[in-house]
Amino acid sequence: MNNPVSKIVVIGGGLAAANAVAELREQGYSGAITVVGAEPHLPYERPPLSKGLLLGTEQPESVFVHDRAWYDDHGVELRIGVRATALDRERGRVLLDDGELDYDRLILATGSTARRLPALEAGDIPVRYLRTLDESLALKEELTGRLLIVGAGWIGLEIAAAARQAGAEVTVVENAAWPLLNVLGPELAPLFADLHRGHGVDLRLGTAVAGVQGSEVLLSDGTRLRPDLIVAGVGAAPADELAAAAGLATGNGVLVDARLATADPAVFAAGDVANQAHPSLGRVRVEHWDNAIEQGRHVARSVLGDQAPYTRQPYFFSDQYDLGMEYLGHVGRDGYDELIVRGDRAALNLVALWVRGGTIVAGLHLNDWDAADSLRLLVGSTPDDLDALRDETVPLPRPSED
Ligand code: FAD
Repeated sequence: MNNPVSKIVVIGGGLAAANAVAELREQGYSGAITVVGAEPHLPYERPPLSKGLLLGTEQPESVFVHDRAWYDDHGVELRIGVRATALDRERGRVLLDDGELDYDRLILATGSTARRLPALEAGDIPVRYLRTLDESLALKEELTGRLLIVGAGWIGLEIAAAARQAGAEVTVVENAAWPLLNVLGPELAPLFADLHRGHGVDLRLGTAVAGVQGSEVLLSDGTRLRPDLIVAGVGAAPADELAAAAGLATGNGVLVDARLATADPAVFAAGDVANQAHPSLGRVRVEHWDNAIEQGRHVARSVLGDQAPYTRQPYFFSDQYDLGMEYLGHVGRDGYDELIVRGDRAALNLVALWVRGGTIVAGLHLNDWDAADSLRLLVGSTPDDLDALRDETVPLPRPSED
């Protein structure tokens, strides 16, 4: 490291931030660290917000990455409930809603925010979004009566599953022909339609909300619904306003290089907000738990001078009813020329591999946890013998034990 780093500020008190500060200390960095987080909570994990917390199988205390004592013990100053309002990059200063902070290295880990649909809010029906711990705890109390969920993405479907398990009447409206179509493709997405319909969800595909008037929702197919509550799960947008206002390059997130560095040598970004020049995937912004952890750790090393690129494949998981699944990789705009499916679609127990030009660009398993290690081995590789993968009598390769 040419010039010693002694003041690191991390903006955004989420998963990427919590992992970045842990790695800074693990790497032996002994200077000042300050985390600025707008939410009034210690950094926490969001996956339980649409799963265990809604179902009541997990308690709010279990979502925090570290307890408060950890931050004290590791000399990390937490400014939570505080928002960063601007960056003064010339002075190396962050302006806060209650003061300012100087930095010599800055990590932007501001995550993303739930996209809002103002048209839904035009009537008298309460509309909820799910991004924060407080929103999850409030929504848990409202999973009764007639619920309309707009958007059959991961979060919409997980809320649908929790709501059905809580006994609510659930309608899900989705514009696309299938739920999760852009991730799972037309071959596998219908399985999720069957799963939810099998649990009593009224799933309206190829349908949009045309308008809300008073206590009535008008759908594009002419149907009128009178839900007690609307929950919108229509995606998230990167919280990159601070960076853009400070003149950093943005475009679907903060543009960073393979090391997660911006063009300003003092400023880095990680997690949902980072749009990375990934060495094998091209420009990619990943909104997943694993990415926030691993980029958080990686960015800490980059800040301390490590030149290594972040090369990890995107990974995520979901739980809905008794279905658990994991997905690894990224199909991207170039698509795929073959999908290999092994297992039993009807029983929702299978492994799928997306192949492009002989390379396994992505893979998933549904309820086949033994396959997770094989996916790690296969995704990103170009196997000599694809026929062996197509042949279900040949076991999937597994990592060697030693
Ligand atoms: P965030 O967790 O969004 O944290 C960013 C923090 O920065 C926020 O607290 C925000 O308030 C704060 N902030 C923003 N701007 C400022 C500012 N100017 N000043 C101060 N603070 C600021 N991923 C999976 O892989 N599997 C799952 O099953 C899964 N389930 C999910 C369920 C839900 C309900 C949600 C919302 C997300 C889920 N995710 C899941 C995605 C995963 O949680 C995110 O990818 C991860 O939280 C990103 O972490 P992050 O630290 O980048 O950002």
